[in-house]
Amino acid sequence: MRVKVLGSAAGGGFPQWNCQCPNCSALRHGKLQARARTQTQVIFSPDSKVWFLLCASPDLRQQVVAARELSPPENNSSPSPIGGVFLPSADVDSVMGLLHLREFQSFFVFSTRGVQCVLQEENRIFRVLERANPPVKWQTLSAKGRLGCHLSEDSSSPADFICTTVPLGGCYPDYVSEETLRAVPREDASVGFVMEQGEKRLFFAPSLPGSSAMWKPAVESASATLIDGTFWSDDELTRTGRSKKTAREIGHLPLSGAGGLLEQFPSQTKGRKILIHINNTNPILDEKSPEHRAVLDAGFEIAYDGMEFDL
Ligand SMILES: [Zn+2]
Repeated sequence: MRVKVLGSAAGGGFPQWNCQCPNCSALRHGKLQARARTQTQVIFSPDSKVWFLLCASPDLRQQVVAARELSPPENNSSPSPIGGVFLPSADVDSVMGLLHLREFQSFFVFSTRGVQCVLQEENRIFRVLERANPPVKWQTLSAKGRLGCHLSEDSSSPADFICTTVPLGGCYPDYVSEETLRAVPREDASVGFVMEQGEKRLFFAPSLPGSSAMWKPAVESASATLIDGTFWSDDELTRTGRSKKTAREIGHLPLSGAGGLLEQFPSQTKGRKILIHINNTNPILDEKSPEHRAVLDAGFEIAYDGMEFDL
């Protein structure tokens, strides 16, 4: 399985257009040893021909255009190597890129029923995807299910990879109406994905509220984990003046502190552990900071745009 990170920042990217936090200001003025980052987007391929998107980032158009793997192949009847999109939630960061894919192209959209309902029933703008002929194909994932995925039309052959959905707790985005909230299952709100091909497993969980422990077995059995590195501390947004809410209140377990991700992360893992969805306020972005050093010393890698690896 080939995996590539096209974007590694949280919502807003790094730097964020309207942010004057110490990181964003210093990066703009060339005073920070750090990489600029686009919003979180990962792609993977079981055969290096057909590619699947994990999230559909607000930066998706520029990310797809910049990724040679996703260029339409020459001399081939298939116009795009993108076979489908897996949506972990209905957050703007995870779904806005679907609108970049509206150019009359059919592909699969994999999500829980709750996420599908929010997008299809409540947000009519996503109906632009139905203009393709045939239209985009929505595939419902159970919040705790396994789905065998085939690269060819022949579904009688063994699956090319298996997607296991892991409920992570968490809430639907603020924009979802009360009426829709009453109609959709709570556990459908935010899920992680284990993509399994043979012995290899990729676990993707860019938003980890920490209210459920179901992510831990997925981490323990993964060959590589791409996991929520949004905030270093619980009060990061209040200290930088970006919000009155804590990291936990907006659905992200912070990296540091009591009960933080570094403390809770299972010690028995053998696979690579990679932080992704890093907010522009996070001090780990500064490559000279003690926080950056601390996550490396704890055995984590920090995802960056263009990072790629094979499993
Ligand atoms: Zn900032």
